[in-house]
Amino acid sequence: MTAPLLQLKDIRVSYGRAEVVHGISLDVATGSIVSVIGANGAGKTTLLNAAMGVIPSSGTIHYRGKPAPHSVEGRVQAGMCLVPERRELFTSMSVEDNLALGGFLRSATERKETLEDVYNRFPRLKERRTQIAGTLSGGERQMLALGRALMSRPQLLMLDEPSLGLAPKIVAEILGIVSELRATGVSILLVEQNARAALEISDDAYLVELGEVRRSGKAAEMAADPALVESYLGGA
Ligand code: ATP
Repeated sequence: MTAPLLQLKDIRVSYGRAEVVHGISLDVATGSIVSVIGANGAGKTTLLNAAMGVIPSSGTIHYRGKPAPHSVEGRVQAGMCLVPERRELFTSMSVEDNLALGGFLRSATERKETLEDVYNRFPRLKERRTQIAGTLSGGERQMLALGRALMSRPQLLMLDEPSLGLAPKIVAEILGIVSELRATGVSILLVEQNARAALEISDDAYLVELGEVRRSGKAAEMAADPALVESYLGGA
């Protein structure tokens, strides 16, 4: 059996003295979409930040069968990329400059090629390439955050609440794009409070509650489980 692309084992994270992630283990198989669902404050964002190395954690993080590089930069170089919940765009810079910054670790030739790919995937960003990022709509900002992440040519894209604050139609569009990305060979670890929508596009899922995994399995099976639907997906 081939090793998972990302393997988290017994991850623990504390803020000060308070431990908020209590030993989470999780695998992302190559070519899959894995979602982490759960209520507000469950520790989902903290888990993604630990996987990216943005915050310290204990436990082990293996990427492509080996310990993940220590630094965030090393992880980006190795093909990991995180799109944070607040998107963190450079709001006073243009769309194109935001994209260029996403590719800063890649060569000029790679950046040029990838920019073309990103514009093909997001024609709206191409139309608005000179627009200041701070003036984009919510959906366009999320597209720019995704596009900027793609500029680093990731193999593993970690997305924190990409649907946050977006209208249902835009959520469907963004999650549709996430599905298409998987078809191009990018593996995805998706954190979502919008559990139903996340499970629809995922292969596997983990339900996290109070910093622990409560349930995990095939996303389709979890979406069909009456107890889970009742408690976490807002009824049948
Ligand atoms: P949400 O969907 O609301 O972002 P979440 O599942 O992503 O929730 P986290 O943001 O990871 O949850 O938060 C987990 C717990 O850690 C919460 O109790 C939160 O208050 C706490 N927490 C998060 N960041 C910090 C911090 N910088 N300092 C102290 N506590 C924090």
